[in-house]
Amino acid sequence: MSSYFRSGISMVHNLPFILKGDSLEKKLRLTLLIAGTSSIFAGVFMAWFNFSSGHNAIACLYCASTLLGCYISCSAFYNGLQRNLYIIVHSLLASIIMLLLVDNYHVAAKHSEYNYLLALTVGSALVLRQQSNYLSKVFPLICFFSYLVFVVTGLTWQQGAFHLNIPQDAGFYIVNCSVPIVALLLTVYTSRGDYSETDLIKRELSNAIEKNELEVYYQPQVDAEKKLIGFEALLRWKHPVKGFISPEVFIPVAEKSGLIIDIGKWVMERTLQQMSEWDRMYNLSRLKFSVNISPLQLMHRDFTQDTLKILANYKISPERLKFEITETTFIYDQQKIGDVIAHFSGLGIKWAIDDFGVGYSSLKSLSDFAIDDIKIDKSLIMHIFENESAAIVVHKTIELSREMGLNVLAEGIESEEYFDYLRHKGCHLFQGYHFARPLPAADAALWIRKSKNA
Ligand code: C2E
Ligand code: CA
Ligand code: CA
Repeated sequence: MSSYFRSGISMVHNLPFILKGDSLEKKLRLTLLIAGTSSIFAGVFMAWFNFSSGHNAIACLYCASTLLGCYISCSAFYNGLQRNLYIIVHSLLASIIMLLLVDNYHVAAKHSEYNYLLALTVGSALVLRQQSNYLSKVFPLICFFSYLVFVVTGLTWQQGAFHLNIPQDAGFYIVNCSVPIVALLLTVYTSRGDYSETDLIKRELSNAIEKNELEVYYQPQVDAEKKLIGFEALLRWKHPVKGFISPEVFIPVAEKSGLIIDIGKWVMERTLQQMSEWDRMYNLSRLKFSVNISPLQLMHRDFTQDTLKILANYKISPERLKFEITETTFIYDQQKIGDVIAHFSGLGIKWAIDDFGVGYSSLKSLSDFAIDDIKIDKSLIMHIFENESAAIVVHKTIELSREMGLNVLAEGIESEEYFDYLRHKGCHLFQGYHFARPLPAADAALWIRKSKNA
């Protein structure tokens, strides 16, 4: 006996794993199973009760609701759930309403029947949240209003006509029935929402381009004589309430959500537009502009076509552009990445490995792909004086780059001391707050003018 009981319990425990679909679909199927079994239990009991009281017609209706319960329980196990969902939820609602209207033999217990509408209201609000707008929002409200109508009017169908049975203290009744349920529904809707910081960022970032909240800043890059050689385009998000949000925070969210495709394209377009504007004003054809390209962007089927279109649009010669990618890019489809890199290299665009030395460092990728520059990560540069292994990695990277004929740039230079030291070690390109922070276009233009006069 106890072993039967135990195996029954373990079957219930394993039920979610037997049901089809992902976690959300399993939850939906489990709820249908609960609704179906409840209909069966309540239906069987009420059918038996009514048959034994001689109310055969009502008993037959309860038999029908028992059959509906069986249909719902079975559908929890079969395919085509989405199609059945509309039928299931509406037939459940219809059967409850019908029984509330016609089953009038136990007036004293009538109110207990309204609880079925409550269960349907809250249950549907909870489990249909991933379904269509109608199922997730409208249907729970229909159930709720049906509940209110019955509770407030006591509506029934007797001897071929509708009858109202409004309680004496209707106001008292309405308030006590509706306030807790509205509160319960609001709690359900609140718990359905996703209010994590990441989700808020995702939602607001998706409108940031249209709302004109994004801006490209330009950080100067210099050579060993501190002469301006170009800029790195760095994205800034000016949030109307929170102020500047760091790209360290929003770029990962943009990458996870896929928004990086549109955002990256916008940065490319804005940067090339700025280049062509400055070209007209200052004729600065020797300056190179670096744009950060996220792996997803590079892998996207439209990347090549979109980039070529923007280049042609602003009449920018490809030799003036540099694309910065991180080492993580190489964990994606190497064939495809290699093709894109080779295609743009063929046109004259340069490729730099960003944040070199901290990620998935594969020296092989330097020889396998058409890479031109290495940017040593600022976290290594900043520790060369206090961390021996950081210093060794930096020295070896400079040596390696030189031997392979690659340019090497040190980022995160914050003082003359670091600049001097690295220059003597053979590094010849630099970027950091010591020279300039990332600047809005107007301030970057001052740098351009200064460099032309020098
Ligand atoms: P990153 O590509 O490594 O960019 C360099 C970062 O170092 C920038 O941070 C820059 O402001 C900062 N930096 C430069 N010099 C110094 C210095 O001397 N000291 C210190 N402490 N920091 C310095 P930012 O602008 O906050 O960007 C952070 C990261 O966000 C970037 O790192 C890049 O990975 C990403 N990012 C920025 N703009 C874009 C973009 O348009 N597209 C993509 N895919 N990523 C972007
Ligand atoms: Ca970069
Ligand atoms: Ca970097």
